[in-house]
Amino acid sequence: MENMELPKTALVVVAHPDDAEFGFGGTLAKWARDGWDIVLVVCTDASGGGPDDARDVTPAARNAITVIRKAEQRAAARVLGLKEVIFLDQPDGLLTPSIELRRMIVRLIRRFKPTRLLCQSPDRAWKPNYAIGRHHSDHLAAGAASITAMYPSAQNGWDFPELLQEGLFPHKVRELYVVGAPEMGHYEDISDTLDIKINALREHASQLAANFEGIEARVRQWSAENGKNHNVAAAELFSKSENG
Ligand SMILES: [Zn+2]
Repeated sequence: MENMELPKTALVVVAHPDDAEFGFGGTLAKWARDGWDIVLVVCTDASGGGPDDARDVTPAARNAITVIRKAEQRAAARVLGLKEVIFLDQPDGLLTPSIELRRMIVRLIRRFKPTRLLCQSPDRAWKPNYAIGRHHSDHLAAGAASITAMYPSAQNGWDFPELLQEGLFPHKVRELYVVGAPEMGHYEDISDTLDIKINALREHASQLAANFEGIEARVRQWSAENGKNHNVAAAELFSKSENG
């Protein structure tokens, strides 16, 4: 159960624009309504968001996509009620769970001092069989870097001691929510915020507008399937861990 003495601050770390909306947009909208301050961190520069069958990819084209997708992400974050969006600008498609990425995330954890961290799974779930697309290598890398940033690095002053010189002192995140994990024993009822999630997804027009009706139908179907086992109309599933 929620400990009301802990600050209502959450940090969300994902690889790409639209990952947060697909993964846990309904949960973020619900928490924002409940007074949570939520900061969204997007690890990549989103420069790989063109058609998969592209035959000519220029630096200028990648830069143009970056500008569009960042604007879409900021608009979607406004729909969800998030406080801030931060881009770490790592090259899209090439993200690794590097020490440098971990340091960047530790820096943000120590700066915002979240009670909750939400991120993507560093492990593939092989079920259901359409889940392979959820486990883009950037997602796996963002998840691995986030979880190692939370524990042990953010709460251990001996990891990245140079951050102490920046006034960024150890902070212990209390709860970890991982989406797309092989085991997901926690659900959030998003019956009241599913429409907000859909509206936030709609802001990612460069990626989704061509087939938004189909995407909306699938998201509603997944949400209903997730909710069925828990007797709610719509749900998002997580692996949730307490950092005791
Ligand atoms: Zn993604």
